[in-house]
Order: sequence, then structure tokens, then C-alpha cells
Amino acid sequence: MSAEPKSAAALAQTAAPSEASRADDPEAPVRRALFQLLGVDGVYARSALYQDVLHRLDELLTRECDPRAEVLRFPPVMSRAQLERSGYLKSFPNLLGCVCALHGSEAQIRAAADAHESGGDWTGSLAASDLVLSPAACYPLYPLAAARGPLPEDGWIFDVAADCFRHEPSRSLDRLQSFRMREFVRIGSPEAIQTFRDQWMARARALAQELGLPCQIDVASDPFFGRVGQVMAVSQRQQSLKFELLVPYRGGATPTACMSFNYHRDHFGLAWDLRDTRGEAAHTGCVAFGMDRIVVALFCIHGLDPLRWPTSTKLALGL
Ligand code: 5GP
Ligand code: ZN
Repeated sequence: MSAEPKSAAALAQTAAPSEASRADDPEAPVRRALFQLLGVDGVYARSALYQDVLHRLDELLTRECDPRAEVLRFPPVMSRAQLERSGYLKSFPNLLGCVCALHGSEAQIRAAADAHESGGDWTGSLAASDLVLSPAACYPLYPLAAARGPLPEDGWIFDVAADCFRHEPSRSLDRLQSFRMREFVRIGSPEAIQTFRDQWMARARALAQELGLPCQIDVASDPFFGRVGQVMAVSQRQQSLKFELLVPYRGGATPTACMSFNYHRDHFGLAWDLRDTRGEAAHTGCVAFGMDRIVVALFCIHGLDPLRWPTSTKLALGL
């Protein structure tokens, strides 16, 4: 028999403090109520109340999703070879997390583990495995789609999600190392991608409004690595390949990117030989929802008790 489910208000009150509050930290109440420290900045356990809101947001997005979309849920790891072929190391080598393991004979593995027991360093014996931590939910999709052969006439739409990792340790609640991303991905002609992205930018603005989140949509660029990366970022902006929906967590705060609207042109089509019926490289685009960022925005803006959130927010989330 399960216990009576606690109300949102009761959950908000019983949440245990996770970090000493600093008087100058405006995120402290949200942090204390919803997050528990796990020993590394940007990696947190999240409370039942937080998870409940995230689940409701997921359901809202499912209602919004094109019914033709094929649903795929990815694990938090993906093939290292596939991410390498996608060109990730050219653009964001600093953000990538690679899964390493102890390889070799029992004696070699035992010696490495024992080095730790005797106060030494065991990590020098690690070697890369064939897995990396997924840095975005859509990367595993393109090789999977390419393996199906030429696109149908009107292309494909997918609904994907994954726990993502980016190596960006930070104490800020909007910069997690491990966070959840949901994406709608369109594969097809350039016109199909542009239409998909334009429609989603309009729909996303309306969704933010329903959720009571003040927002603006702006052209943006990815944080490409190094000096060459700066040139890539300028070119991406000039071609308007990326837009972001930005939400300030409080009055006067620098707005946080909670969704992105990306047009990759034929980048993944060429990388994976993903072709349309005429043999042209397919174009791709994705709309990415930063689930954790949206949920943190809701709590920061509307307060810790979802039952007191604005009526339209509660309606949208079924609260
Ligand atoms: P993008 O691929 O556009 O960089 O990321 C897609 C979305 O994932 C972003 O719009 C944002 O909402 C979310 N995201 C990106 N980086 C982080 C992060 O460090 N922490 C969290 N919580 N979400 C992130
Ligand atoms: Zn994507």
C-alpha cells in the first residue's frame, strides 16, 4: 500500500535544505527547497515536487508534439565513434565527457584499483571506452535515421530525449553538468526545416506565455571552442542558424536560454550520408527544450508552491 500522495504545498515545506544559504544568492530558496548536493557542482538530486513539475512539462510537450513524430528515448551515453563522426570534437571538445574504464587483465585492473586503496592515483590507468556522455539529445538520431535509407518524400519528424552532459562545472542553477533535454527533430528539405522552425518559434513563445514566463526570442550562437570557434559563431549568427528563447529568472537578471531552435543545414546529412529521394543531402533542424532550465524558471518566477502559480500556468501543467 502506498502512502497518501503529498500535496505540492506539503512537498515544498518538507524539502530538506541542501546548501547553506548565502544572503546574496537569489537562487538560495529554490536551491534549498528542490536540490540536494551530490558532491560535485552542477550535479544534483532533485526533489519529488521538482520531478512532478518536470513530468507535467514533459506531458505538455507531448500534447504539443506533431502526432506524426516517432518517439525515441535515448540513454545518457552514446557511441564515441558516432559523436566523433558528427564533428563534435571540432566544435566543442571542451564540453565533452568520455566514459573511461579500466581495461586489461585481472592483475592489471587489480593493481590500478589497489593504487587507490594505498592512497595513490588509479585514474592514470583508465582508458577510453567506446562510449561518450551525450551532449545533446539529437546526436544519436542522425546515424539511426541514415541507416533506414533515403528519406520518404515529406521527410521525418522525431521526438527524442536524453539526460545530457556538458563539462561546465558551475554553482549556478541554470548551468548544470547533467541536465535533461527533450527535442523535436525535423529531417527533410531546406523549406521543410525552415517552416518547422518558424512554426515552433511562434508556438514556443505562446507556450512560454501560457506558462507565465516572460521571454524573448533572439538570434544566438553555440559556444564554439577557441579562436576558430569565434569565427564559426559569427558565421552561425550571420546565417541566423540558431535562435534561443530567453527567460530572465528574476527582474534585472541576465536571461537564460531555455529553448533553442536550430537549423543545421546539410551538416548531418553529409556526415551520415542521409539522402532524400533525389539523392541530395538531407537538411536537418531541431527544437531543444532545456527541461531543467524551464522547471527552475517556473519555481524562480512563480515561487515554491505550484498550487499558488498563475491560473494559466496551472492549467497548462494540469496542476
Ligand atoms: P543547445 O544545444 O542549444 O546548447 O542546448 C539546448 C537547450 O539545453 C538549451 O536551450 C538549454 O535550455 C539546455 N541547456 C544547455 N546547457 C545547459 C546547462 O548547462 N544546464 C541546463 N540546465 N540546461 C542546459
Ligand atoms: Zn538537436
